[in-house]
Amino acid sequence: MARVTEEEVLQALGAVVDLDREQDVVSLGMISGLAVRDGNVAFSIEVDPARAEELEPLRQACEEAVADLPGTLSVTAMLTAETAPPPAAESPAQQTPAPGKMALPGIKSVIAVASGKGGVGKSTVAVNLAIALNRLGLRVGILDADVYGPSVPRLLGIDGQPESDGEKLEPMQNYGVSCMSIGFLVDPDQPTIWRGPMVMGALEQLLRDVRWGDLDVLVVDMPPGTGDAQLTMAQRVPVAGSIIVSTPQDIALIDARKGLNMFRRTDVPVLGIVENMSYFLCPNCGHRSEIFGHGGARETAAELGCDFLGEVPLHMTLRETSDAGTPVVASQPESEHAAAFMAIARAVIERL
Ligand code: ADP
Repeated sequence: MARVTEEEVLQALGAVVDLDREQDVVSLGMISGLAVRDGNVAFSIEVDPARAEELEPLRQACEEAVADLPGTLSVTAMLTAETAPPPAAESPAQQTPAPGKMALPGIKSVIAVASGKGGVGKSTVAVNLAIALNRLGLRVGILDADVYGPSVPRLLGIDGQPESDGEKLEPMQNYGVSCMSIGFLVDPDQPTIWRGPMVMGALEQLLRDVRWGDLDVLVVDMPPGTGDAQLTMAQRVPVAGSIIVSTPQDIALIDARKGLNMFRRTDVPVLGIVENMSYFLCPNCGHRSEIFGHGGARETAAELGCDFLGEVPLHMTLRETSDAGTPVVASQPESEHAAAFMAIARAVIERL
């Protein structure tokens, strides 16, 4: 079947009316960042922050209007507040939460690890980065907010359930890092359909109702893409900065760009881009092959005016240690792979 086109999407949105302003969302100029690819449609609806809550039905109406078009596979519509862009990407970390943001006493900096799409190694980077930051002397927690595929417990080799004192949950511990995951709270055999408000609620709960204690850094493994979790982070959580993980393939870079724009539109500074599966290091002869054409993320970072934080090779060891729950930074601290993450951790600390 022919895939839906941009024109068709805009035409469908042209029939959705913002009842308060008695005009359709396209004529009002509320639609921005429209991306249509292979039947997958994403766009933002720019709204006055004061109206954000009451406009959830409008967001749903926009999604439904597009979902009804033949040739549409998925639709993601986000409400974004019309805020002025930050003066510079490297604006300093916020210590006191802005109005509307949660207070997280005891946590000095929250870092969001994001990616445009799944499978690029975002969780692998988040976990190894957390352990690397701990090796550099910081008190570190990791929050697995990837509601669609929580993998941090497996990557950290953590089994079981967190304890609760009736008021708060105790984070689990391994490799010097405190961990809480949405995976501990949902039944893995029961597929959960996450609706926007649930994602937001779950994320806030994992931040607020966990006894994180005093942390220098809380690394948050975000779900891929730009959805409700990103919006919650941007609007409700005092995020010091985000890190975008990407593979060198162009398509992934295009997606990462979307992720970057999402954070850019809000006041979350982007600390930089990490290129994962950057080059292939042959385990037999040590030869380096640039399978996916290496260096794309560095170029994109330069193009977008944000920092390049480092690259991680594609290597069996990384997959094996991830799957075995023995992250390479902890299990092979002297290896070249661990060194790649240590360098990224230093680059992150420099920018915090
Ligand atoms: P994401 O969080 O983006 O979905 P994961 O971190 O779960 O991605 O990684 C996806 C798969 O790729 C996992 O099996 C992981 O072990 C593997 N992987 C990630 N990074 C690398 C790498 N640099 N080299 C080899 N395998 C990797």
